[in-house]
Amino acid sequence: MNKPPTNPSDSNSDSSFHLGWNPNALYNSIIGDLSLGSLSPFHIATLPPSSSLEHLPPPRGGLQRQSLSLPPPEFSAAALPPLVAAAPAPAPARRYQPRQSSSTKPRKKNSSSPSLRLKKGKSETITPPYEWATNRRATVHTLHYLDFKKIHEIKGEVQCRRCESRYEMGFDLIKKFSEVAKFVWENRGEMADRAPEVWMNPSLPTCRYCGQENSAKPVIPRSKKAINWLFLLLGQMLGCCTLNQLRYFCKHTRHHRTGAKDRVLYLTYLSLCKQLDPSGPFDR
Ligand SMILES: [Zn+2]
Repeated sequence: MNKPPTNPSDSNSDSSFHLGWNPNALYNSIIGDLSLGSLSPFHIATLPPSSSLEHLPPPRGGLQRQSLSLPPPEFSAAALPPLVAAAPAPAPARRYQPRQSSSTKPRKKNSSSPSLRLKKGKSETITPPYEWATNRRATVHTLHYLDFKKIHEIKGEVQCRRCESRYEMGFDLIKKFSEVAKFVWENRGEMADRAPEVWMNPSLPTCRYCGQENSAKPVIPRSKKAINWLFLLLGQMLGCCTLNQLRYFCKHTRHHRTGAKDRVLYLTYLSLCKQLDPSGPFDR
C-alpha cells in the first residue's frame, strides 16, 4: 500500500542527511505538545537568531530531546551552536527560514487577495466532502484537529492505468505528512517558488491488483469542491491535478493564482502544508 518514497533526496548519498531527523517524532511532538505550543526541529531551526531558548518549554521525551540536540541536515555541526545553550550566537545561513520569523506580525492577510468573487449561486461554504475537510472550499483541518478527532488515515480513490481496477487506498496522516514536510524543509531553497520535477510528474502507487508500478492514479472528481486535496498532498500526487484545478485551490485559499503550473503547484503544496500545520515553515 505504501509506495516507496518518491523524493530524490532519498538517493542522497550524504549520510548526515538523515541524521537527527525522525519524521514521526517530529509531528508526534507537535501533536503531543499541543498544550505547550508547537515545538519541533522546524521551529527551533527557524527561531530568530537573537532568540533565547530558555523561554521555551523543556523538551519532553527522549525522541524530542534527540531531535533538539542534533542540527538540521543543512547546517554543519561546527557552524551551529548547541541548541540547548541559551547564549546568543551568530546566525548560520538559513535557507528555510520563513520570512515571517523576522517579524512578529502575521503577514498572511497582506499576501493574499482580499476579494473572492464567486459565481452566482455558489456559496463560500460547502458541505465538507471528507471528514478531514472543512466547510470551506479547498481547505482541510489542522493536524491538531485531526488528531483530536482521531483521524489518522486519509483515504482516497485510485484507478490503475493498466488493469483499470478502481479502489480505495489510505495514507497514514502523520507518516506521509512528515515526508512532505521534510521534503519541503530540505529542498525549499532550491525550489525557488516552483514545484520540482518529482511534484510535477509524481510517481504513482503500485496497483494493488495487477502489481503494476507507478500505475494507481488518483481519481479526481469532476466537481472541484469534492477534490480530495489532503489525499493528493500525502501521496505527493497534486501534480495529477490540471492547472485549472490547482487554480481553483489557490483562488479559494486566497493566493495569487497566475503563472505556470509549476508555480501554482508549488503554492498548492505550501498552502496545504500550512493548513495542516499553521505554525510550520510553510510561508511563501
Ligand atoms: Zn492494475
